[in-house]
Amino acid sequence: MKKRIFWSILLSCFLTLLVTAAFVTSVLYVNSWEEYKREIETEVLYVGEAVNVMDASDGEASRYLEEVGRSTKNRITLIAADGSVLFDSYADEEDLDNHLSRPEIAAALADGSGQAERLSDTFGERSYYSALRLEDGSVLRIGGTAKSVLGIVGNALAWIVIVSVFVLLITVLAASLLTGTIIKPINKIDLNAPLAAPAYDELSPLLLRMEKQNARINKQIRELRKQQEEFNYITGNMGEGLVIFDDHGTVLTLNSSAESILGCDGPSASKADTLPDGRSYLKLSRDLHYIRTVEAALDGRPAVVTMERSGRQYRLFATPVERREDSRYAAVLFIVDITDRERAEQLRKEFSANVSHELKTPLTTIMGYAEIIGNGIARAEDIPEFAGKIRQEAARLLSLIEDIIKLSRLDENELTSRFERVDLAEVCRSVVKKLSDKARNANVSLSFTGSSCAVSGIESILHEIIFNLTDNAIIYNREGGEAHISLTESDGQATLVVEDTGIGIAHEHLDRIFERFYRVDKSHSRETGGTGLGLSIVKHGALLHGASIRLESEPGQGTRVTLVFPCAEAE
Ligand code: ADP
Repeated sequence: MKKRIFWSILLSCFLTLLVTAAFVTSVLYVNSWEEYKREIETEVLYVGEAVNVMDASDGEASRYLEEVGRSTKNRITLIAADGSVLFDSYADEEDLDNHLSRPEIAAALADGSGQAERLSDTFGERSYYSALRLEDGSVLRIGGTAKSVLGIVGNALAWIVIVSVFVLLITVLAASLLTGTIIKPINKIDLNAPLAAPAYDELSPLLLRMEKQNARINKQIRELRKQQEEFNYITGNMGEGLVIFDDHGTVLTLNSSAESILGCDGPSASKADTLPDGRSYLKLSRDLHYIRTVEAALDGRPAVVTMERSGRQYRLFATPVERREDSRYAAVLFIVDITDRERAEQLRKEFSANVSHELKTPLTTIMGYAEIIGNGIARAEDIPEFAGKIRQEAARLLSLIEDIIKLSRLDENELTSRFERVDLAEVCRSVVKKLSDKARNANVSLSFTGSSCAVSGIESILHEIIFNLTDNAIIYNREGGEAHISLTESDGQATLVVEDTGIGIAHEHLDRIFERFYRVDKSHSRETGGTGLGLSIVKHGALLHGASIRLESEPGQGTRVTLVFPCAEAE
């Protein structure tokens, strides 16, 4: 733009100057030529008048004309009526040809006077002739030569060039100054606030439009940024992995979960950063399952595979997304951690198998005794003992089923709605009371220390928890051993400890002790009526009440189970 303005100013100045100079020169030239012509015409009249009164025969006229010819630079010629030259101030009369054919002479002979204009043989000159018929019939002609316009220009060429260069320099200077002055306010326009200081009124509509467009663009950018932030926030915080690829398999979006699951090589994007990544899908992971899944989606086929990484199982769902323009496929990869689900499924299967097995054992015993009695094989004195065994196995079945029911209830989520204020000390006392006979029979001293401590929960479940732990403390104790429950409160937490001086648990079992049906010594547990579900119920019950659980045990020395409950809000 700057160049254009500069050249426009320069050219227009220069052209204006040229045109003006040419015009002024032409006008002046035309005026001066007309003046010159009038001079010659006047001169011929005066000289003609003088010659008319002279006597041509005694040569007075010739002498006069010679004299006039010397005093003027114009050419004076006297031509006889037959066209022969009688006198010429520039040349010898004999050398000159007949002048009758000259238009000014012919006109003068015919009309009394005549004029003619001719370009001279010499370049750049033009001549003017004015002729007058004298009284004796001869013709007096005066001619003058002056420079033509071309002649003047040719003569002054050097000056014209010098002046033109000078003018050109001034024009260049003026043009660059003017350009700078015009451009400066435009350069100063603040594109972020174009209307703050409008440069020219003519630019106002444009600047107004810019201002409006700025506002619109800013609004759109804000909305886009907000959407991007929301998207980043959602994808960055979701546990599932999300990767979006373009049709070349280049990563467009990669959330932090996907990044950590795939264990991406190369420079890592910041957490929750889902901006275009630019990496190829091959660079994210070298896992064959992953590569095949993405490639299938990029080929337009949806794919689902399971992949194992760092001991966890992931399901990869790859979906092709067809591009309308060229029917190529981009791909969306969704990665879900299915480890817990698979584990739960596995547990469920194990649980069903265990339940069937646990139910089958007492039922088989019951069936056996019932058949013996039914067939009449049993002796009459043995029948009460067999009946007792049947009752015992039935009781085991019952307690097993009760435990299973308790566990399945604990799995229900809506139990928390039944929470109420429960005094744990009360529950402990009730448990001690219930188990005191059992403890006495087992020769185990059972005690409780602690004062009132309220938690929010379901009393029956809390009772079950403490009962199971205390029951185990008695069952897995030794003759003359101790089982002790203590309850303390500090920092808004109620700490319940059930400890015994019993047989303890070997370290290798500690990890699995809370699993359903897990028993260290199956036969001993069965003998004591254990179902292997007691600690499972304790664990789920604690979980429901938001309590943490810790089990420490030393074989031969005893076991200590610590539960820490959050205290109920003060009433
Ligand atoms: P069970 O009904 O067999 O007692 P639990 O789930 O209550 O089932 O306990 C699982 C296993 O943990 C028991 O079989 C027992 O071997 C062991 N156990 C539980 N509590 C104690 C304890 N206080 N002392 C020693 N072993 C224990």
